[in-house]
Amino acid sequence: LVAFLLYLFTLMGPLGQLTDGWTGLSGGLAAVRRIREVEELPREPTGRTHSRRGSSPLGVTFRDVVFGYGGRLEGRSPAHRGVTFEVPAGGLTALVGPSGAGKSTVFALLERFYEHDAGTVAVGGRDIRHWPLAELRSAIAYVEQDAPVLAGTLRENLLLAAPDATEEEVRRAVSRTRLDGLVERLPGGLDAQVGHRGVTLSGGERQRIAIARALLRRPRLLLLDEVTSQLDAVNEEALREVVVELAAETTVLAIAHRLSTVVRADRIVVMEDGRVRAVGRHADLLRSDALYAGLAAAQLVAGRSPARAAPEAPEG
Ligand code: ATP
Repeated sequence: LVAFLLYLFTLMGPLGQLTDGWTGLSGGLAAVRRIREVEELPREPTGRTHSRRGSSPLGVTFRDVVFGYGGRLEGRSPAHRGVTFEVPAGGLTALVGPSGAGKSTVFALLERFYEHDAGTVAVGGRDIRHWPLAELRSAIAYVEQDAPVLAGTLRENLLLAAPDATEEEVRRAVSRTRLDGLVERLPGGLDAQVGHRGVTLSGGERQRIAIARALLRRPRLLLLDEVTSQLDAVNEEALREVVVELAAETTVLAIAHRLSTVVRADRIVVMEDGRVRAVGRHADLLRSDALYAGLAAAQLVAGRSPARAAPEAPEG
């Protein structure tokens, strides 16, 4: 009994960081089980500190990766059923495939939002389980498809993850993401209010703001979930240029929904049903892979569920 109580008290330390207080041992064995579950999760850093040292791009390796969201107990078909592909450091790699193929799961595992069940995930040649979590997440920037723009000024939005960035760095990020035109147009420029209380921005503009924000952190690996909405010509061209330019200095792994991106990708990983079915460049895959040819003919966005492939709409 003494040993059991000592065991409980040793567990209380880490739990205390996650809760406001421990109210007693009344929860019994259920509480112990819960503590064990919490302990087994990867530790979150107390604050997501982002190093801005900027260093060499990182490659990615997936080897025979198996992963199911519900855990093995629920008997659901795993989201990854032996995923294998290699992304060298630097350059643009596009992930494509129908809805549910497992593309977003690649990002979730790289960020360690979940632990894979089997196989190997490596970043920069190092097994992902051996990276300190804060260091790993500091090296990776993740630009979501529906990137949030918070209520505040444009400048505040850009500085969110890199508050010590200089004015010069901010200007450079703005120009590299082709946001200069927007800044000129906005009353107050970088100090204009955006988000739900401010200027209305389109999906393409919001994603470029998110990319500029990510750039200020100088990521060694950029995960980009391209917006699915139909972009106007200016946004389409701007995003294409930005993605291609970024790939010249860091590793860009993009869930690609636009033909203009995949055409320029250094390699395309075609996923279907939790596996990789082909890897290659656009011209080769058009000839060799029927699924890819079909997706390309439908401009790739057809792989998304109809609700998500809505025309570009301003926020609000
Ligand atoms: P889409 O293009 O529609 O986003 P995707 O290729 O990115 O699809 P994933 O989102 O990786 O596919 O999903 C792979 C499988 O895992 C699907 O069957 C999906 O329903 C399931 N899945 C994804 N996220 C979760 C989750 N959080 N919980 C449970 N199942 C999930």
